[in-house]
Amino acid sequence: MKPPVTLPPLREVIKKHGLSANKALGQNFLFDMQLLERIAAVPGDMDGQRVFEVGPGPGGLTRALLQAGARVTAVERDSRCLPALAELGDYFPGQLDVIDDDALKIDLPGLFDDPFHIVSNLPYNVGSALLIKWLSEPQWPPQWQSLTLMFQREVADRIVAREASEAYGRLSILAQWRCDARLAMTVHRSAFTPPPKVMSAIVHLVPKAQPEGVSPRVLADLTQAAFGQRRKMLRQSLKGLVGALEALEALGIDSARRPETVSVNEFVAIARLLSPAL
Ligand code: SAM
Repeated sequence: MKPPVTLPPLREVIKKHGLSANKALGQNFLFDMQLLERIAAVPGDMDGQRVFEVGPGPGGLTRALLQAGARVTAVERDSRCLPALAELGDYFPGQLDVIDDDALKIDLPGLFDDPFHIVSNLPYNVGSALLIKWLSEPQWPPQWQSLTLMFQREVADRIVAREASEAYGRLSILAQWRCDARLAMTVHRSAFTPPPKVMSAIVHLVPKAQPEGVSPRVLADLTQAAFGQRRKMLRQSLKGLVGALEALEALGIDSARRPETVSVNEFVAIARLLSPAL
């Protein structure tokens, strides 16, 4: 790896470019370079790796990724950040591309020729929507090799939760049926400027083989119906879904159970019986 590049402190970058935090854009910045280096290392050795980053802001996580040798394509919605990111790119020739856009509008297939990692301190207001979009890609395994994402602690807990826990729900199933998901680290609210009201955590997801014969659309509809009425028994919440009650019976799953007691594998088995022949 190349020797570290000496960069101006992030607080100076913020001051120079007038990047006062905009709450509507979920702007809570990280300045602690040791913490940023630990986050950038979660996916593994990044030397020469391709990375897609959502919301680089003033470039804290971006500089940690670039120092680690990654080639980063970043999408930032706040155009006030672009001059600061252009300056950062000058320190790392050929390593940083910035797209001035809304990440929700970016179509990932087509953006990269090679496999890539997604690493982001996500804006909280669009974090879950982006995760679900990335988890719903028709092609599986997807072109991305891993997701390293900062969420509010409560959302992170839901992503990695096991059945029978309070946090277990639709997000747990949509994440875990196609990925190995783990909580990589927790981040105290005081690490951010300005500090958010809640604690945060990094989750790391790696795609695994998708179970055969299961339509992602059917699994999404099934979990929506089941957890849309979380306190109800399956026989009540799934009665509007054609074939669902018969599928429960065929699988020997008691229809008096509540959705939080049904494992990811059981939901996958129900979805398989409801999926049209592929
Ligand atoms: N990466 C920086 C850090 O770690 O300090 C900033 C993270 S801050 C939590 C989230 C960033 O996402 C902000 O820079 C914000 O402007 C940007 N952002 C918010 N909504 C976005 C969207 N829809 N598309 C792209 N970027 C967005």
